[in-house]
Amino acid sequence: MAKQTIEDIKEIKGKKVLVRVDFNVPLDDKQNITDDTRIRAAIPTIKYLADKGGRVILVSHLGRPKAGPDDKLRLAPAAKALSKLMGKEIGYVKDCIGPEVDAAVTKLKDGDVILLENVRFYKEEEKNDPAFAKKLAALADIYVNDAFGTAHRAHASTEGVTKYLKGYAGYLMEKEIKFLGQMMEKPAKPFVAILGGAKISGKIDVISSLIDKVDTLIIGGGMAYTFFKARGVSVGNSIVEADKVDLAKEILKKAIDRGIPLMLPIDHVVADKFDANANSQVVTRAGIPDGWQGMDIGPDTITKFGHAIKKAKTIFWNGPMGVFEFPKFANGTISVAKLVADATAKGAVSVIGGGDSVAAVEQAGLADKMTHISTGGGASLEFVEGKVLPGIACLQDK
Ligand code: AMP
Repeated sequence: MAKQTIEDIKEIKGKKVLVRVDFNVPLDDKQNITDDTRIRAAIPTIKYLADKGGRVILVSHLGRPKAGPDDKLRLAPAAKALSKLMGKEIGYVKDCIGPEVDAAVTKLKDGDVILLENVRFYKEEEKNDPAFAKKLAALADIYVNDAFGTAHRAHASTEGVTKYLKGYAGYLMEKEIKFLGQMMEKPAKPFVAILGGAKISGKIDVISSLIDKVDTLIIGGGMAYTFFKARGVSVGNSIVEADKVDLAKEILKKAIDRGIPLMLPIDHVVADKFDANANSQVVTRAGIPDGWQGMDIGPDTITKFGHAIKKAKTIFWNGPMGVFEFPKFANGTISVAKLVADATAKGAVSVIGGGDSVAAVEQAGLADKMTHISTGGGASLEFVEGKVLPGIACLQDK
């Protein structure tokens, strides 16, 4: 269901707008922000609302505070970074509800922006406590959610507040819904999904959902070895989930029943131990010798996967093709990133979902060559699984 966005809000001037942003940025031990991507990504929404005369009240979480306020997880550095990036003073309040916040909100003039303190300093946030949600909602006239990364969680600041305020999607949220929604509802064909990473577990529902929709399913990375095990192929010391072998068999059967190719690696870069400087060799025959483990897809696999990727009109990629954190075993992942970027340049829609594939694409310097890089790992996977994301469902329908 399409959702109303900030451009659908009739009257912004003079209105107090509570905006849930995702300022969950990485910090070093001196509280310096090491990557401000998430802050920069929220600026178009903040700017639009402020330029229209809204009184913007930003709320976010940062990390996982255990019990109440934690000085290491305050949002002061984010407020400072945002002021610098927007070239305007962004107020910062050391709480997210209560008298100090009320006073700051009362002082707001049209176009002003303030950032409230880490909302997870209150345990009521993650419990979606109605009384707490009501207090947050009481700060504003309108609610905007631009934090896709937490949209799969029904928390007070992502879902509870919409019991009291009308909610709209910010630009970032709108973009996520557009690209992920189009991909799942009416993808241009052929639709190729590339899945990798260490394990099948955690991605079972994603595989089950995609196998009904894609024209080709490519499986690489550590999870491929559970499929080899299911086929009775020797895997040496490669990572295998023994309790998921039956499931892998079911998935292989489903692909056959649907008549779609499920592509697995045909050669492997193997190592004699799990180490950045391990001895390595390429194994081209079926089966990995004893004492060796699969660490990356081999050159023939890159070529084979490449044929499918080149023909694709829609590509979804989640999970690296090998242990890409070790440069010696990063070639498969980087090569797939290049293949996806080339296909995108030729008109395919590419959607990169999830932490490690995003890191790999950035490492390869190809982030700006993809159609859409999802800002939410868990949220994008749940979207692809077909689950209802509470932080989206609660926004106004178009
Ligand atoms: P995931 O979080 O499930 O997407 O897994 C990502 C992790 O999978 C990365 O840290 C990779 O190093 C790891 N990985 C990918 N391929 C392999 C492999 N063949 N053996 C062990 N770990 C792998």
